[in-house]
Amino acid sequence: MNQSKGKTTMTQSLNRIALSLLTGMSLFLVACNSEAPEPVAEQKPAVEAADTVLVNGGIYTVNAGRDWAEAAAIRDGVFVMVGDNADVEALIGPSTRIIDLAGKMALPGFHDAHVHPRMGGTALLGCSLEPAGSVEEIIEIVTGCLSEDASNDDEKWLEGFAFNLGLFGQDGPNKALLDAIDTDRPIVLWGADGHNNWVNSRALELAGITADTPDPALGVIERDPDGEPSGTLRETAQELVRAAMPQSTMEFEISALLAGVDHLNSLGITSWIDASVGLGDYQAYQALENSGDLTGRVITSLTYESGFAHHYGEEFEEVLTNRHQYESEHVRNSAIKIFVDGVLEGETAAILEPYLGTQEDRGELILSPEELTEAVTRFDAMGMQVHMHAIGDRAVRAGLDAIEAAQKENGRLDNRHHISHLQMIDVDDIHRFAALDTAANFQALWAYPDTYIMELNLPVLGEERIQGMYPIGSVERSGGRIVGGSDWDVSSANPLDAIETAVRRQDSLAADGAVLNEGERVSLATMIDAYTINAAWLMHQEDTTGSIEVGKKADVVVLDRPLFDRPATEINDARVLETLLDGETVYVAQD
Ligand SMILES: [Zn+2]
Repeated sequence: MNQSKGKTTMTQSLNRIALSLLTGMSLFLVACNSEAPEPVAEQKPAVEAADTVLVNGGIYTVNAGRDWAEAAAIRDGVFVMVGDNADVEALIGPSTRIIDLAGKMALPGFHDAHVHPRMGGTALLGCSLEPAGSVEEIIEIVTGCLSEDASNDDEKWLEGFAFNLGLFGQDGPNKALLDAIDTDRPIVLWGADGHNNWVNSRALELAGITADTPDPALGVIERDPDGEPSGTLRETAQELVRAAMPQSTMEFEISALLAGVDHLNSLGITSWIDASVGLGDYQAYQALENSGDLTGRVITSLTYESGFAHHYGEEFEEVLTNRHQYESEHVRNSAIKIFVDGVLEGETAAILEPYLGTQEDRGELILSPEELTEAVTRFDAMGMQVHMHAIGDRAVRAGLDAIEAAQKENGRLDNRHHISHLQMIDVDDIHRFAALDTAANFQALWAYPDTYIMELNLPVLGEERIQGMYPIGSVERSGGRIVGGSDWDVSSANPLDAIETAVRRQDSLAADGAVLNEGERVSLATMIDAYTINAAWLMHQEDTTGSIEVGKKADVVVLDRPLFDRPATEINDARVLETLLDGETVYVAQD
């Protein structure tokens, strides 16, 4: 803490003097304050007590030197001292709250650079299939949700969220499994990846999907051998079902977003990039801000028209033009989300070499390279951050090409673009993240040989391409900036799950197991950077968040144990005890 100590020594000694005055003569001081203001008023700023202090060590500051501190003091929502216990002692007044960090660890609040809080909140409030580890368990949960939500209305949809597509083969799940459940109600289950859903026959009927329905542009209706729809709908085909469902109310959207925000806070997350929004999200964030419930700093990424229908049927250009009117203290609507391709499951991701077993199926780019370049150049010129979804190596290249073209056209505008997912990056493109000052936004929790990779990706890509997936280490070695995002509710929002997986490249829920390319492992410090200072940079707020330094906002996560100097398998065993935003508690563990 050399830098910080050097800065605070003088304040520290002044405080010491002030403290002895204060403790001995507090009554005198109060009395004098109104009658003889001159000498006391001069000292008053130095003795002003902190609102909260953290003491007894374990503060990983993520400052430039990645120093540790023993103590920190917070006043009016910002850090006013970072140093040793002795440094903050003088700032402890009668009403100062003391957080004892003995045996614990404090870090800057986590920043999740790719998350869908409203969708995650919707799943939390509804029928969550995330815990299901088998097809039987999915059916069990759905059956349970149907009986809990007993409705005689056979038009009432039962929605389930976040089932694991990896439990099914290349054709996806079949309607017959859902038809066997004793109900007349339509059932739609949304895949955890957001790109596939699974419906029963009643849902197909209400959506008017038959053997004669053609695949929509950029979508697939999976079919049984007899040509009837099988119950798996991919990409835009999902929208056929959504269109048949009643629209949810704004009241529900707001409560779903609130549930999502609370969940993020419970995991130590204090800043995030909402990865895909429409007008309804702008309004929901505004409602939460107005009610004082928005406990996080947010950049939203407005979904660009790209064949994906919007939830609210709004006109893109109009929403884009009016975006600033929904901004507030905690929200900047300054980013645009562009889907460059689909996903490898279902072979909608755009790849450089064909999928195995096909002559020339290289997936699809949602926009042509020319269209993508035009869009990126336009939004870059508007001063917006472009946030791209790119899974396949051809999509990643197209994204980087578009950013390069935009920078040639507009000059370097410091808009800090980023590409999310990055499941495959061609070796020739690795260095371009650094060269184009484009952040590599990895969902590191996916970087181990899970069922998606082993059951669905391996057969269509082969071993070599599997081992090259999520090349976090390579991008880091090339000087690229790594940021972290959960993509919740696609997968766990817990940053520690993703951090542990990036360090181990093994299943974070198991002590050992298969490794996905050891050479791409990165350090714990790298991943903490990814979830703090690097993501703060991406959000254009590195001057105010992302590290624990004097003058920065007091966004803090307190963990129940240290993360460093113990086995990496224990990283995600740590629990969040408390989360602070602007020095105020926004989450505290219950027991
Ligand atoms: Zn996403």
